[in-house]
Amino acid sequence: MKRSLDANAHAVRDSLAQTKLSLNDFANLISPAASERLEQISVRSQKMTQQRFGKTIRLFAPLYLSNECVNNCAYCGFSRDNAILRVTLSIDEVLREARELKSHGFRNILLVAGEHPKFVSNHYLRDCVAALHAEIPGVSLEVGPMETDAYRPLVAAGADGLVVYQETYDRNIYDAMHTAGPKRNFDWRLETAERAYAAGFRRLGIGALFGLADWRYEAVCVAAHADFLLRHCWKAQLTISLPRLRPCAGEFQPLTPLANRELVQLVCAFRLKFPDAGLVLSTREPARLRDGLIPLGITLISAGSHTEPGGYTGAGREKIHHTERGRIVELASGASEWAVTNGHATNATGQFEIADDRSPGEVAALIRKLGYEPVWKDWDAALTV
Ligand code: SF4
Repeated sequence: MKRSLDANAHAVRDSLAQTKLSLNDFANLISPAASERLEQISVRSQKMTQQRFGKTIRLFAPLYLSNECVNNCAYCGFSRDNAILRVTLSIDEVLREARELKSHGFRNILLVAGEHPKFVSNHYLRDCVAALHAEIPGVSLEVGPMETDAYRPLVAAGADGLVVYQETYDRNIYDAMHTAGPKRNFDWRLETAERAYAAGFRRLGIGALFGLADWRYEAVCVAAHADFLLRHCWKAQLTISLPRLRPCAGEFQPLTPLANRELVQLVCAFRLKFPDAGLVLSTREPARLRDGLIPLGITLISAGSHTEPGGYTGAGREKIHHTERGRIVELASGASEWAVTNGHATNATGQFEIADDRSPGEVAALIRKLGYEPVWKDWDAALTV
């Protein structure tokens, strides 16, 4: 952390001269001194990304299964104490949403759900994966952490990726942000990727939510975590996400800033430190910034995203309710109709506001315009031995 602030121009130059970067080199590259050489760093990052990944950008879409949650996370709209409109999609409704995404080209879907054993049980998740597997070759999950043995049926059903963000690697801030629910256990969450690997997931995604602890501290911790996973879970493909906080129900304000220029520096530093890791950028970022970051090191982006269950088709609209102490509380008659008129397909509350609302087709066209190939499908179930 200290190094990432204090590195001087010589240290930055020495780190840039390395072919294999250490954690210290990474810290040097995210320093204020390295910011002075951002152009040089970004040129190297761009070149390295093209050498390793070609001129391709993989596309994925999040499919929210449920916005029920037993946790209180200060920065998340789904927090249990937020009086939001909630719903959990049935398997048929999940299929409907997935088919809509498929009609836009997606073959890589990230299933997302709050953590709620009653509404989002392990069996339910397995059934969702199994139902999608026949139609969608790439199914990943971003759900509450589980035991290794609970992950195995999901892998057997066809899930190939597991994404879990630590949110913040600062234990004090972590404690302050997570005031209720099983997510309070920092270490249990930290070890999730290892349990997922032991269960057979072949893609692992990690990251921090920028806007909580100091961004340089988080970045060094993410890099150290990634280093560890590359050594201990070496058969898996690793992706690193760099999400910044967005407005959401509860109106949490970021505690720390991460400016656009610093985000660019961060993407490039991660690329130089981890030449083969996937770097993920979501629709949390505005279109112009995303377009500028695509050539610099990003390999995987989402497009046309909705963060509310049923957001693509309106599925589940008639089941919207409030949840109090794990019990469904029906809305007053007619109360679920108001939001249908506000331009959304469903009135379930989203996790956060997206910043890039272009359609998948528009994003794919932009990728082509930049000289890159949009890749909708990079895996086939037939390749699984
Ligand atoms: S961040 Fe995840 S665990 Fe926390 S409230 Fe939101 S959905 Fe629940």
